[in-house]
Amino acid sequence: MCASSCCKKGAHHAVCCHGHGASSPARSGKTIGAAVPELFGANVFSDQVMKARLPKETYKALQRTINAGASLQADVAAVVANAMKDWAIERGATHYTHWFQPLTGATAEKHDSFISPSVEGTVIMEFSGKQLIQGEPDASSFPSGGLRVTFEARGYTAWDCTSPAFLKEDGAGNVTLCIPTAFCSYKGEALDKKTPLLRSMNAVSRQALRVLRAMGNSTSQKVIPTVGAEQEYFLVEKEYYSKRLDMMNCGRTLFGAPSPKGQELEDQYFGAIKDRVSAYMKDLDTELWKMGVTSKTKHNEVAPAQYEMAPVFTSTNIAADHNQLVMETMQKVALRHNMVCLLHEKPYAGVNGSGKHNNWSLATDDGINLLEPGQTPGDNAQFLVFLCAMIKAVDEHADIMRTTCGSSGNDHRLGANEAPPAIISIFLGQELTEILEKLAKGEKICSPEGCQFVKIGVDSLPDLPKDNTDRNRTSPFAFTGNKFEFRMVGSSQSISGHNVALNTIAAEALDEIAGRLEKAKDVNKEIQALIKETMAKHGRIIFNGNNYSDEWVVEAQKRGLPNVKNTADALKTLVTPKTIKLFDKYSVLSKEELHSRYEIYSEQYAKHLNIEARAAVQMTRRQYIPAVIRYISVLGASAGAAGKHGNVQKKLLEKISKLLEAVDKKVDKLEAEAQKARAIEDVGKQASAFRDKVIPTMLSLREDVDQLEELLPADLWPVPTYSDLLFKL
Ligand code: ADP
Ligand code: MG
Repeated sequence: MCASSCCKKGAHHAVCCHGHGASSPARSGKTIGAAVPELFGANVFSDQVMKARLPKETYKALQRTINAGASLQADVAAVVANAMKDWAIERGATHYTHWFQPLTGATAEKHDSFISPSVEGTVIMEFSGKQLIQGEPDASSFPSGGLRVTFEARGYTAWDCTSPAFLKEDGAGNVTLCIPTAFCSYKGEALDKKTPLLRSMNAVSRQALRVLRAMGNSTSQKVIPTVGAEQEYFLVEKEYYSKRLDMMNCGRTLFGAPSPKGQELEDQYFGAIKDRVSAYMKDLDTELWKMGVTSKTKHNEVAPAQYEMAPVFTSTNIAADHNQLVMETMQKVALRHNMVCLLHEKPYAGVNGSGKHNNWSLATDDGINLLEPGQTPGDNAQFLVFLCAMIKAVDEHADIMRTTCGSSGNDHRLGANEAPPAIISIFLGQELTEILEKLAKGEKICSPEGCQFVKIGVDSLPDLPKDNTDRNRTSPFAFTGNKFEFRMVGSSQSISGHNVALNTIAAEALDEIAGRLEKAKDVNKEIQALIKETMAKHGRIIFNGNNYSDEWVVEAQKRGLPNVKNTADALKTLVTPKTIKLFDKYSVLSKEELHSRYEIYSEQYAKHLNIEARAAVQMTRRQYIPAVIRYISVLGASAGAAGKHGNVQKKLLEKISKLLEAVDKKVDKLEAEAQKARAIEDVGKQASAFRDKVIPTMLSLREDVDQLEELLPADLWPVPTYSDLLFKL
């Protein structure tokens, strides 16, 4: 069954559970600030709640499962389920759901009520251990990429007890107990994004621990990849959004002449937050805090009507669950404020798009950040080893990191002005790069105390300037003092895939390093050799300059770094022998699971573009062309009435009529190209056809329509303009 299949590959290996706060909502009579600690986590079946509500033995047994990956006994599950149900019902819940993350990138939930009929015709509220641990939803409508044959329509959900259960409240007053789960096929193949994430966390923990043991650490029991995902988004007036078929269907504008003002005055970034937006953010914080999401930072972003929320980091699977909740809640709360939250990577041409900064590090269960340079020679040595592992990992598998960022939406960002280009490189900062270079060459390293040959494990490194964060905002993978910040991630993407990649490539590099250190007679000497080798073989991946410059593109090519500019190509990496070997070796994804992902993601890319093409055709035929014809008849009548004074009308008539003819031809072409692409069976070829034929036609159509927008009277233009969308909040 699924639970055990996932377990086999490490699904239930432990990650820290958040010690969430109180169990009752805020009382009145307190200031808002004072009530936050009570409010925070009020809807979470947290460690504290478990401790208070479970018999001691049950609590201990569950902790063993959470922390050490021990299998969960049926009798323990039964007691936990009952306590969970009582707690949920006290807070208004009537239903429960196994909350999971299918390969669509969204979340899925099927609500079952707790009711159980009795012979007398009444009902009691019940929730068994079996119901908690496992569900069997009909999976036939979820993408499986060939993993689940049609006659085996069932999918299996297995409780991820390392991410706490929580309550979701909706606007209609329903409260649902959500049980974070993994989702697999009958044979245990991952049909979701969580299962490989849990497996990858397990893989990196095992290898990192080996390295730590080889370096003399005998106390840490587990290594946890930590993640903090900063989320960018746009808000738009709901009334305007509802008038645009493109926004409603594609989440972005397919047409739109630029508004006179864009972001050139640089007056939005960190600007004072407008009251209406502030009211939204306040509501958003409250909703997130209740569910235990540590929403910490909020601010205006660079583009008009663009914003960001950043949480405090936590273990990766919880961070991924929370990021899904963040996206969902952002959208839900916006509607209450008569706004719509846009998570698309590029809602508007000509201004910044949205990304997600995936801050990533490795921490031990006893609280050591392995990417923290530290103060002592030992800490420094440990830091350098983990840093070298990442330099090697990223250089060897830049293609895998790139593929996780592929989506039709993110293609607009990668390579565009505001985002990292599609070339993966690492920013380390000048000081750290110099230290590594000098260590590699055996040269003296200077600090305010003087210059010396630094012996690893014996001498301390000079203090690195703290917080490199803002020194290079153009790097796709920047070391920012004590973590890496992966900035290529698209704003609407699930962060699971990116972290599966980071954890697994880190696991491989650490595995190799552990092998060396375990055999070494002198560990410190071996580390010194490792640094030298890493810099010689993989130093090319380090780049501290401007990633947006044209020179970097040329330079990167000289260094042999890949530059894969679009999703259709990037996805092919999923099924190369190198990728298959890596993910198989660490039991993260099998060959079949990788193939299924390739199929599904290629298909998704094509489907998104197909929807865009259809929306563009509909808007053109049913809105733009009729509007233009209306204006032409106004102009024609006016030209006739004006007689010999009708030159302006005639000039406009000619210009507009020509554009109209071009638009008519292009819309026919777009329809035909989309139809041809749809008919292609091979998913890879289909994705390429959408990229090569459909996108250029759509862009060319847009150019003409946008020109018409600039020529038509405002009251005849059938949809809200960029000025409305960007500046009317
Ligand atoms: P910014 O990038 O905006 O300058 P910070 O660098 O302070 O802001 O933090 C950005 C994000 O990085 C936050 O979500 C924070 O919780 C997260 N973060 C900080 N330390 C770590 C870590 N060790 N592991 C993962 N994420 C971290
Ligand atoms: Mg950041």
